[in-house]
Amino acid sequence: MGGAVDLHSHTTASDGALGPRELVRKAAQHGVRVLAITDHDSTDGLREAIDEAANHPPLEIVPGLEINCDVPAGPRGGPTEVHVLGYCVDWEADWFQQFLREQREERRARVYRIAERLAELGLPIEPDDVFALVREGSAGRPHIAQVMVTRGYVKSVREAFDKYLQAGGPANVPRKRLTPVEAVAIIRRARGVPVLAHPGLAGRDDMIPELVQAGLLGIETYYPEHSASQTAAYRAMCATLGLVATGGSDYHGPAIGKANAPGTPPIPMRVWHELRAKAADARA
Ligand code: AMP
Ligand code: FE
Ligand code: FE
Ligand code: ZN
Repeated sequence: MGGAVDLHSHTTASDGALGPRELVRKAAQHGVRVLAITDHDSTDGLREAIDEAANHPPLEIVPGLEINCDVPAGPRGGPTEVHVLGYCVDWEADWFQQFLREQREERRARVYRIAERLAELGLPIEPDDVFALVREGSAGRPHIAQVMVTRGYVKSVREAFDKYLQAGGPANVPRKRLTPVEAVAIIRRARGVPVLAHPGLAGRDDMIPELVQAGLLGIETYYPEHSASQTAAYRAMCATLGLVATGGSDYHGPAIGKANAPGTPPIPMRVWHELRAKAADARA
């Protein structure tokens, strides 16, 4: 049994393996009572998730999304990526949906660019095979990685990232859109709560001051791949800066990437109450 709160999860609207209804059922089985759905550049899973959650009281869905940004080399190494979560945004606003469509269009263009790189490396893939997996969703490197596994180029999605697709990898092509500061600003413009996702993976804590300046309101502190000392450090940072220390499983479904479960690590209900208070501030 996991915790009652999980503020980071993915569905088939982006690179998750479970549809929104399946994800909600799975989360309910794991004892989750507050579930944020944070698909990459899409809110298309929300409506079904909210509908399904009505069958599992007291389960509540928090509307969210995740925006991935590429950043050039920082003080401590090569290029990396910074992911920004957004909660309680005005996701139904026309301008915001238009923004998300443009983000997804850039994701599709990036599939072609990565396919060109892979071909140069002697690992050709068909972009259409990637789009067949993506369907109406938001395309990402995990879909490319799955096609590479099917072609027998690598044994696992993880191996595809480690050898080719990770930031700075030989087949990775950085996105052209949005800096993390711009992602934070967009989420504030949509009256939501911007949160720096899994900073322990991004390795760009040096950017936190400028993100706070841009309107960042939280840091994802509780995360499966954060060590105990990282969790303690981000908790302290949040306390000092007046940010909400959020957390979540980043669950992508049973077969994809990390073998975690909804509701892990366990997160107390207090975290949701703090995030909800920030959301009220952001709208005020
Ligand atoms: P993209 O949406 O193209 O930026 O791809 C980023 C997504 O790939 C992340 O949100 C994760 O779901 C997944 N990912 C990143 N690194 C890895 C990895 N090393 N192994 C498996 N999946 C990964
Ligand atoms: Fe993902
Ligand atoms: Fe992420
Ligand atoms: Zn995520």
